[in-house]
Amino acid sequence: MPTRPLLLACLLPLACNAPAPEPSTNQASATPPHRPSPAEPIAIPPADPPPAPSAPAPSIVPSTPPPPAAARALAAISAERLRDDVDALAAFGTRHTLSADATDRGIAAARRHLVRQFEDASTTDRPGPPLTVAEEPFSLQPDGRRVDRPATLVNVIATLPGTMPEAMGRRIYVIGHYDSRASDVMDPEAAAPGANDDASGVAVTLELARVLAPHPLDATVVFMATAGEEQGLLGARLHAAAAHETGAVITGVLSNDIVGDPTGPDGERHADRIRVFSSGAPASWTAEQLAQGRATGALDDGPARQLARYVATIAAWEHTAVQPTLVFRPDRFLRGGDHLAFDELGYPAIRFTEVAENYDRQHQDPRVEGDRSLGDLPEHVDEHYLAEVARLNGAVLVHLANAPSAPTEPAVVADALSRDTTVRWAPAPEPDVAGYEVIWRATTAPSWEHARDVGTATEITLPLHKDDWIFGVRTYDRDGHRSPVAACGITKA
Ligand SMILES: [Zn+2]
Repeated sequence: MPTRPLLLACLLPLACNAPAPEPSTNQASATPPHRPSPAEPIAIPPADPPPAPSAPAPSIVPSTPPPPAAARALAAISAERLRDDVDALAAFGTRHTLSADATDRGIAAARRHLVRQFEDASTTDRPGPPLTVAEEPFSLQPDGRRVDRPATLVNVIATLPGTMPEAMGRRIYVIGHYDSRASDVMDPEAAAPGANDDASGVAVTLELARVLAPHPLDATVVFMATAGEEQGLLGARLHAAAAHETGAVITGVLSNDIVGDPTGPDGERHADRIRVFSSGAPASWTAEQLAQGRATGALDDGPARQLARYVATIAAWEHTAVQPTLVFRPDRFLRGGDHLAFDELGYPAIRFTEVAENYDRQHQDPRVEGDRSLGDLPEHVDEHYLAEVARLNGAVLVHLANAPSAPTEPAVVADALSRDTTVRWAPAPEPDVAGYEVIWRATTAPSWEHARDVGTATEITLPLHKDDWIFGVRTYDRDGHRSPVAACGITKA
């Protein structure tokens, strides 16, 4: 297993760096301190997850109330519909990507159900073209890994076209994977209800299509249910590669995977939190980009990380009931997800996952072993939590779709030694741009800390020493929607 040396390499320095225990002044010097034998377990209670390691500083959350578009659209989110969606998907028995096609069992039956649900979400009562639904098929061949026979993989894609000509070329995705797996990832017929993993994420995607379909949004929003995730992120990778090939502009990917159960394995509740995973520097960065990131201390400022910080800003601004706990790594240890397929190509893509996963309820044949009940069953999904997760996702989608583009080519001018900072950027193309804000933080701060409105200027010099801060720029429109922060590179002139 390639993972073992990696884990040891990670754990050993921690053990070596642990502080030595203070010598006890009460002990007689002849009494050696008690040292547990290697076989003796040391009981350490589990720590609470970090509350919000990267909550945005209040000064970058606008002090004015958020524009009403998100609240207006998201009031219609229904916990009951989310419940029905999870139950309906779990009832297909298995949604394994290689499962046989039967009337009411298997992934093909689940796909037909999803297509009908997305089609029902579409309405012509909208200022702009309606939501359209498409199947995106790919031929799979045996790959020596998790595909052992020829098969057809189909992503289900619903697209809500943007209503602003200058913005409709931008796409924002919300995705969940509708395939599932049993204990044996190669068993296409065993029961695999996949309620939390990932009917929960598909339900969020579907419900957001329903509530947003009647509303105008400047940019295009894509609601996608992928297949083949459990077989190696296949549907997401094939889709992302095809999109990249055509030069698609994708400004955000919100992947919801295991988002339905706020209760941890010990019964603890985390109903007001969800984790957001993001990479700091995408695998697509060139050697030159990495070198510049190293030189300027900006290896933590890739597009996915900016999107994660944006989620935290919007959640604080909209006071969502579920708040994000940002985790600054691409995904959990030993696991992956569809967002990585986009992240690998340099698109801003993040993963939402509940705080305390219960591994007895993932990738397990439903069964009872002693007092353990295993299996990913619908009864473990809490539709009220799911509704709040959908509201957080929806708020981010609406803000991201309605905000103008982030400024392009933002840069700190580094043409001479000086004690101030000149920042410059190219204007955003949307006609409703009302101005820009320069954003900055300490080099040691995880999230942006300060904002300065500069109106419609595209260059500003601030009395801040550029050695000591990391800078970015964001755009705002006439309604007050903010773009994500575009982190500054450097320019010599
Ligand atoms: Zn999953």
